[in-house]
Amino acid sequence: MKLIHTIVAGILLSAIVHLDAKQSDTDYAKKRKEMVETIEKEVQRTKGLLGKDKLSPRVIEALLSVRRHLFVPPEYREQAYENRPLPIGYGQTISQPYMVAVMTDLLEPGPEDVVLEVGTGSGYQAAILAKIVRKVYTIEIVEPLALQARERLKKLGYDNVEVIVGDGYYGLPEHAPYDEIIVTAATGQIPPPLIRQLKRGGRMVVPVGSVFGVQQLVYLTKDANGTVQMRQIMPVRFVPLTGKR
Ligand code: SAM
Repeated sequence: MKLIHTIVAGILLSAIVHLDAKQSDTDYAKKRKEMVETIEKEVQRTKGLLGKDKLSPRVIEALLSVRRHLFVPPEYREQAYENRPLPIGYGQTISQPYMVAVMTDLLEPGPEDVVLEVGTGSGYQAAILAKIVRKVYTIEIVEPLALQARERLKKLGYDNVEVIVGDGYYGLPEHAPYDEIIVTAATGQIPPPLIRQLKRGGRMVVPVGSVFGVQQLVYLTKDANGTVQMRQIMPVRFVPLTGKR
């Protein structure tokens, strides 16, 4: 009799745990939807800078599906869908969702594209890109962050992301050229190796300026002849691109 009680209690407990997990998944999905609505309002508000008032449906779809709460430390989980950067340890941050959305949208990523990211951090931006493109290579200089992000992305099934430990200043020549390049740390000057590794017809976004103050988000394009053009989009504030250079 006691054994039966124990078994029934066990089954009930696992049903409760399962229901609880389902419930919090639904709650997080609702929070994600609210986050996207906030981002869309912010895009409307900044349309003068962005030159558009709507994000592409692909970007919205990715923002709705990537579980940002699994990319932040447990103590920040409840704030994961607020429109702001959060600490991820080692003095680094996961970028503000609006900024992730705008940078991804500027890249105009397509389903067959190969993208290079400099500054993996939590792996969230890489996961957003991975929902849209064929392959993402992402470089992180802080080894423990790179290892955590690699593990997290693997566990969550992002099989088209490769995390590399290293100095992203030099890019990743072995897989170049890239359709798009995104730099998620501030640099005084756009690293020339990254410009070289961008495909003709490709796009890059990178925060350029004082690494301890405000930078300009720069949108760079390379045309079919290899001519590079740059446009400043808006003032931004990113952690510095570190490394030897
Ligand atoms: N994209 C990240 C995300 O989704 O969580 C946020 C990136 S955080 C704002 C900037 C990251 O760039 C940090 O993790 C930092 O360690 C990294 N970083 C700084 N300098 C770097 C370099 N030279 N090469 C590669 N990563 C670098």
